[in-house]
Amino acid sequence: MLKEFHSAFNRKLYYGISLGLIILMSSGLLIANPRKGLMDTGYILHMVLLVLLSLCLLIYPRFESRVLRVLLIIVTTAYFYLLFFIYPETWSTFIFLCFIPAISILFYDKKLFYFSFILNGILVTLTFSYISLVDEGKYFSHIEMDLIGNIVNFIGSQMIIFFIFHLTNMRINKQRVYYEQVQNAERLKTTGQLAAAVAHEIRNPLTVVKGFLQYYEGHDDFNKEYKRNFSLMINELDTAEHVISQFLSIAKPDKESRLSRVEVETVLDDVTEILKTYGLLHDNHIDLQVQEKCYISANPIEFKQLLVNLIKNAIEASPHGVPVMVKAERKGSMVEIQVKDNGRGMSKEEISFLGTPFYSLKSKGTGLGLMICYNIVEKYDGAIQFDSKRGNGTTVTLRFPQIQEKG
Ligand code: ADP
Ligand code: MG
Repeated sequence: MLKEFHSAFNRKLYYGISLGLIILMSSGLLIANPRKGLMDTGYILHMVLLVLLSLCLLIYPRFESRVLRVLLIIVTTAYFYLLFFIYPETWSTFIFLCFIPAISILFYDKKLFYFSFILNGILVTLTFSYISLVDEGKYFSHIEMDLIGNIVNFIGSQMIIFFIFHLTNMRINKQRVYYEQVQNAERLKTTGQLAAAVAHEIRNPLTVVKGFLQYYEGHDDFNKEYKRNFSLMINELDTAEHVISQFLSIAKPDKESRLSRVEVETVLDDVTEILKTYGLLHDNHIDLQVQEKCYISANPIEFKQLLVNLIKNAIEASPHGVPVMVKAERKGSMVEIQVKDNGRGMSKEEISFLGTPFYSLKSKGTGLGLMICYNIVEKYDGAIQFDSKRGNGTTVTLRFPQIQEKG
């Protein structure tokens, strides 16, 4: 719901128009009113509804609630129908009956519009029936004289109002989507920059530590056992450095990253190994079904990063002991890889948030994993698709262009 009364100017305008309307309505009650002297039920009802309507109009900006909007529409409807019935000689009141649904367009409230549209349709049908069957032209001769013509005009006016509502609604929705996209892009940009800065700062200390280790590794003071450990440490630091470089390359897309022919089977074996050594598998295991000789063109480290992230998510979503299925096969000119779990699954809304940086439902999650995945997939002209249902597990499908074995 758009907050329309944010700016002081809008507020002033609203109160100005409301006041004008209230004055106009009051003059209808007080000036040259044929029932004024009578003070009968009709006149008193007119007064009561006018006060109610004025109150609703004046307090609406303070609360802006749906209840108040519905109330406003009901009171307005009652007011106009009352005018129509107690002042039959003022034939132009009929115009108001036609325009009642248009009021809800002002609130950009779809349900309210349909409510008012249908309510008014029912009331007008009853009114016309009353006039043709009971009144028979006694008071409402101007309508009775050409009943069919009036009905046709009423339907026409409703069609126009519906059309206006539909167009306005469509335009507003389009604008809202555009606004959200702009906001999202802005957020992505700033978080990307922040992440790049952090990654950069981590790289420097790593380089220093690695330098010392390399120095010790070549030094004679240390025995073989130590040196082997140093070399392991250096390897780990290399991996860390690489991940950071990858991350930086995502923040700052690097066109020069080296492509090579990657065999999916080899990569998946490596990935399973990585997940095992990091103790990420718990009691779950990975059920691999991989067709041989599926080749794609990518940077192998990035491709591993992609699969590690997806399989890690699948394991984290699964209950203990339930395996995760990974399938890879050639399909036409593409290679298709599926990561399937029987875990908690996701709602449609959750799926729509995937890939947004820092979107995570885990207590220790970063919400960066899928953002990186999306970037990698896009970089290699691939596609990624999530099929999931709450409580029914998730299947992630990756598709990449296949390349030939040699070449
Ligand atoms: P993280 O794993 O650090 O939370 P990700 O970007 O990898 O960040 O994932 C974002 C969120 O997407 C997760 O917190 C989780 O809620 C949801 N998600 C991702 N994969 C799955 C899956 N296979 N099953 C259920 N939820 C998932
Ligand atoms: Mg993750």
